[in-house]
Amino acid sequence: MYENVPDEVDNVIVTGKSGAGKQPRIDVLVEEYGLEQLSTGDIFRSYLGEFDGYGYDGDISQFWDEEKEEFVADDRIAEEIGTDKEEVILGLKAKYFVDRGKFVPDRITNQLFDSYFGKQDYSDQVLDGYPRTVDQADFLLDLVEEKNTKVDFILWVRNTDEKIIARTTKRRICPECGEVYHLKYDPPEDGKCADCGVEVIQRSDDTEEKIRARLQEFKDKTKPMIEYLDGKIPIAEVSGHLEEFTPENVRKSVMSSLEELYE
Ligand code: AMP
Repeated sequence: MYENVPDEVDNVIVTGKSGAGKQPRIDVLVEEYGLEQLSTGDIFRSYLGEFDGYGYDGDISQFWDEEKEEFVADDRIAEEIGTDKEEVILGLKAKYFVDRGKFVPDRITNQLFDSYFGKQDYSDQVLDGYPRTVDQADFLLDLVEEKNTKVDFILWVRNTDEKIIARTTKRRICPECGEVYHLKYDPPEDGKCADCGVEVIQRSDDTEEKIRARLQEFKDKTKPMIEYLDGKIPIAEVSGHLEEFTPENVRKSVMSSLEELYE
């Protein structure tokens, strides 16, 4: 039925505004191509959890040097918070940005991305939420060339700011496995994750103010990144909004946008 779409891929990028509805489209690609999902947002959230679990209650903005646009040295942070555990310090840095709806600086993000991408030999992955800036895109292009692999296509999930705000403020996630629920469209039974049985939570950055900050970051940094990659990597576009949201409709929309791209 889909004659022109590639049978196999090395890696693909799924991009779009935060909250555009990437996850169901990622699920289609994971299943279709047997890929693993690599989500920088999930990675940052897990480090953020390490920091929160550690329990430092001082003001973390003291560690960000606004003028130099960088964090103070790690040993100074370690001394003040009382631990030099790498996960906790990285969690603190992630929290500073994630909680403001701002992007984590490229240098930190690229380094972290590289180490996770390499865990599975730089292939067979859906890159979710990375790259998000021109600098990250450049880093990725150099990396795939160096590792002799490639990104086959970009799937751009499009949605309007209004729909995203309505959707994300009702979004809940499982703190264990990251499964996404929606209070209206896909409510968790008894407020618990169907797989893990633990209570679902609201992401700390899913308030309207922070969502608006993330949408602004998309306009300022990610839109130019997509324009930059246009012509270098094929881009398929798909709507993040479906009148009738069913697994079949999601799959059909993803596969037909790829079919159109490769026609
Ligand atoms: P997401 O779950 O993809 O919406 O990401 C949540 C938050 O993690 C973002 O708002 C950023 O603060 C941070 N983040 C995730 N991916 C990136 C990235 N590629 N570059 C910079 N910050 C990121």
